Formats: sequence, C-alpha cells, structure tokens
Amino acid sequence: MERPGLYRRFNKLLIANRGEIAVRVLRTARAMGLRTVAVYSEADRGAMHVGLADEAVLLGPARARDSYLDVNSVIAAARQTGAEAVHPGYGFLSENAEFAQACLDAGLVFVGPTAAMMTAMGSKSGSKALMEKAGVPLVPGYHGEAQDEATLAKAAARIGFPVLVKASAGGGGRGMRVVGSAAELAGAIVSAKREAKAAFGDDRMLVEKYVQNPRHIEVQVIGDSHGNLLSLFERECTLQRRHQKVIEEAPSPTLNEAQREAVSAAARKAAGAVDYVGAGTIEFVSDGKDVFFIEMNTRLQVEHPVTELITGIDLVEWQLRVA
Ligand code: ADP
Repeated sequence: MERPGLYRRFNKLLIANRGEIAVRVLRTARAMGLRTVAVYSEADRGAMHVGLADEAVLLGPARARDSYLDVNSVIAAARQTGAEAVHPGYGFLSENAEFAQACLDAGLVFVGPTAAMMTAMGSKSGSKALMEKAGVPLVPGYHGEAQDEATLAKAAARIGFPVLVKASAGGGGRGMRVVGSAAELAGAIVSAKREAKAAFGDDRMLVEKYVQNPRHIEVQVIGDSHGNLLSLFERECTLQRRHQKVIEEAPSPTLNEAQREAVSAAARKAAGAVDYVGAGTIEFVSDGKDVFFIEMNTRLQVEHPVTELITGIDLVEWQLRVA
C-alpha cells in the first residue's frame, strides 16, 4: 500500500475533535513539544479543548454536520493556521477514508492509517473477505455481494440457526438482529435493513452464526510505516447492553496464556494483511474455546486507556511518533 511521503516530521498538530479525546490528544502533543490547534463549533466556544490549545479555529454551527464533520472546514482550519498534521481522535471523521485522503491531498500528515487501509477494513463484509484470504479465523457466515432474500435465506439455512443478521456498514450495535428460526428471518432482515439505511445510508447485510454466550475479546495493535507491527494485549468487553460495551477489562480473566497468544497472533495477522499503520483494534467473538474475527476499528477507541494502564504506553504518543 502507498506509504512514502505520507508520514514525516511535523511541529504543529490540528486536533479534529472535541471533548475528552481532544483534551487527551492535546496534552500528549504538548508534552511532546508540538504546537497545537483546536477546532470547535459554536456550541463549544467555552470548551476545555479550545482553551488548552495554542490556537483555536471556529468551524461552524453547533450541528456536527456543519462543523466537526465538515471536511472542507477542517482542512481550511489547518491551512489557515499552518498546521502540518491532523489527529482525528475517535468518532467524527476518524474512520472517514475521504477525509484521510483530503488531508494527504492538502499536504497534511493524517495521524492514522491510509485511506486505502481504512477502506479495506471499513466494511464488515469487505474486511471479512480479506481476512478469509489471509487465513484469519472467521465466524461461519455469509459476507457476499448478493443481497436478495433467497440468497440470505439460503446462507442462513446453511450456517444454521440461530444466526445474526448484521449491517455491513454497522456500528454501535445498530442494524443487528438475532434470528432464532427461518420463520423470523425475512422480518428481521427488513427491520435491520431499515435501521441500517437510516443510520449508515447503506443497508447491505451479512449473516453470521450467532455464537451462544459469546465473549467479546479485542486486541489493540499498532503498526508503523517501516513494517513493524505489535499487538498490545487484549481487552475483554463481554459485559454489554444492546451489543454496546459497558465494562472493559484487561487482561481478560477468561484467557489462558495459550489463548492469549492465539488471539494476539490472529490480530497481528489481521492487521498485517493490510500492512497496517497506526493504532487500531481487532475485534473477535469467542465461544469460550476459539476466537473468530468480527471487525477492525481503524482508529483509537474510547477504551484505549485500559490498554495504556496495563502497558504503561501512551498510545497517542505512539500514534504521533508513527505519523
Ligand atoms: P458494532 O460495530 O455495531 O459494534 P460488532 O460486529 O462489533 O458490531 O458486534 C457488536 C457486539 O455484538 C459484539 O461485541 C458481540 O458481543 C456481539 N456479536 C457480534 N457478532 C456476533 C456473533 N456472530 N455471535 C454472537 N455475538 C456477536
């Protein structure tokens, strides 16, 4: 994947985010001797991240679409202040491949993976197809292109009920339905598609074996542009409500050493398949014995401090050093 010239020395960093994560990135950037630029919406004039930065630029009205999600305004803010690099934090534009590319096109260092890596890992279906080729264990399922009812029904029957119907573009547990029997399938697909269309503007579905009493284990990884790739142990996130994490714990109390190494090796293989650069998380479900890849997040996660606490590593510092 493209690399040379993407990452280089910079002295001034724009943080394209707000709130806790913006403050978090600002503090590390400052400790590393970088100059910092905050951006804000009209609703955030008095926000902590605005006061902490060396400079701050108003992006626009309170609505995220008109401020933090406005690619042109963020790039203009970097141009205007002479920032040379952009850290997207998490949420907002952090997984937006067009934004990563727009930064590159504007001559800015994007602190994160390349647009191509994001696109490759961005859809649950596409990344599963890639992982299958790379030999990373997957939950048995269907992640093909065809979306007609007959194809999905046939896939579900082959996989065996219960299955999970899941939006390929999904996140935050939305567009997901557990289906116990063939009779419930059509209705579940219609309602999952409707939810996915509204939330993500994309209603493509994949079908997976529903792992009973699943454990959610995820592995923090970080890679650099010289081909070094590390896994930084796992986070156990099984305690969830509506498929959303409530408590994160590390190390996972459910893994023995052999299982820990197995899931870490699978994560390195997954990230290695796209020569991954930057911080990321590989998510797995476990049936208590084996782990299966479900998706990758190509950004810092809200729960990254759990890993920082057990490793003593400042992940934002590593992201900036990698960039
Ligand atoms: P999202 O991106 O919306 O968070 P995920 O694919 O990460 O969706 O899944 C969210 C949660 O749903 C997982 O943490 C896990 O608890 C549960 N889950 C996902 N896939 C499966 C599966 N095949 N079997 C059982 N539970 C699953």
